[in-house]
Amino acid sequence: MSDPSAAARARLSNFWRRALVGLFLVGLFGALALRNREADDAADHSDAQQHLLYDEIYALGTLISFTVWVDDPAQRAAAGAAVDAIERQLHDFDRQWSPWGDGLLGQFNQALARGEAAALPAALRDLATRSFALSATSGGRFDPRIGNLVKLWGFADPPYPSSPPQASAIDQQLDALRRAPTGYDGAEHWGPAPGVAWDFGAIGKGEALRQASEALSGHGFSAHIINAGGNLVTSGARGDRPWRVGVRDPRASNQTTYFAALETAGKEAVVTSGDYERYFEFQGRRYHHILDPATGLPPAELRSVTVLGADAAAADAASTALFVAGQRWPEVAAAMGATQVLVVDASGALAVTAALQPRLRLQPGLTARRVELPSP
Ligand code: AMP
Ligand code: MG
Repeated sequence: MSDPSAAARARLSNFWRRALVGLFLVGLFGALALRNREADDAADHSDAQQHLLYDEIYALGTLISFTVWVDDPAQRAAAGAAVDAIERQLHDFDRQWSPWGDGLLGQFNQALARGEAAALPAALRDLATRSFALSATSGGRFDPRIGNLVKLWGFADPPYPSSPPQASAIDQQLDALRRAPTGYDGAEHWGPAPGVAWDFGAIGKGEALRQASEALSGHGFSAHIINAGGNLVTSGARGDRPWRVGVRDPRASNQTTYFAALETAGKEAVVTSGDYERYFEFQGRRYHHILDPATGLPPAELRSVTVLGADAAAADAASTALFVAGQRWPEVAAAMGATQVLVVDASGALAVTAALQPRLRLQPGLTARRVELPSP
């Protein structure tokens, strides 16, 4: 490997050389050039605004923003109507996939709770089958059977608790998981599995975003970003430019402080699992909503894992599994086929896979360790 400090010195001296040339040019053309640039930017901005529709809705337990590019500004109203239709679709998704409501999954879980082998409605079988397949490749770190453990920790619904559950109650949950079947292959029934409930919270947002993006394209608006609290899908481009998205700083107090940015190409998903989404602090320790199915506890080795990929549901499942894997995330990423990954560990250090590194723009002053994934 080359000497990183020598490379850094070379970059720095290049930087100063460019800075001096830059200063000279600015001095030469000064105010005039600046005025022209500002005028150009403003004109470009207001022109772009005419082609953009921005809308926000509340669904999937979070604010979801839609940014749609329309070639003809007159189409903006039609794009808004399409977003309204998709809002209804997302609410329906929410209801059917909620583990605890009166929707399809809620009823399935109620049957499991009665100690029965529960019937799975046809509408849920595809995603459930995919989820269990992803669970297997994750080595059980992403586990859709985790519902009752999440509920025990109090993360199923706000308000979130202020202290962890009893160790004996966690052990009981782990026992129930150990005794339950580990797979699901699309059959009509699953179980019995006393003490277990299904929860697709770690993959559902990705799948819902995929469906919303398909639907929006189906309405004729194939250039858009749909952003559900930092988990997002993009499609097409922002006119003649790519979409540019930010990755949230896991220790920032607001959702708009980014430590990294990247440009997306066509249909892509950017999904993050972090310890900052739902958490409480107890005796100086942070307890959050992503649980390790092996220990029953929230893992503490990482702050956030961002996965990019063409398949939003797979990226979502992978972000959760890699988060649970902690420092062993590269081997789980390889096993799950997640090649584009950005990780912030518990000390704030960054790591990025070789496949993602060329696309990533970090904030000035930050560096990320480059990771080659092992062969699966
Ligand atoms: P995500 O934000 O995609 O990482 O998903 C977190 C959500 O998935 C939590 O709110 C739980 O409902 C659920 N969950 C937590 N831990 C796991 C796990 N190890 N496997 C599957 N789902 C989980
Ligand atoms: Mg996830």
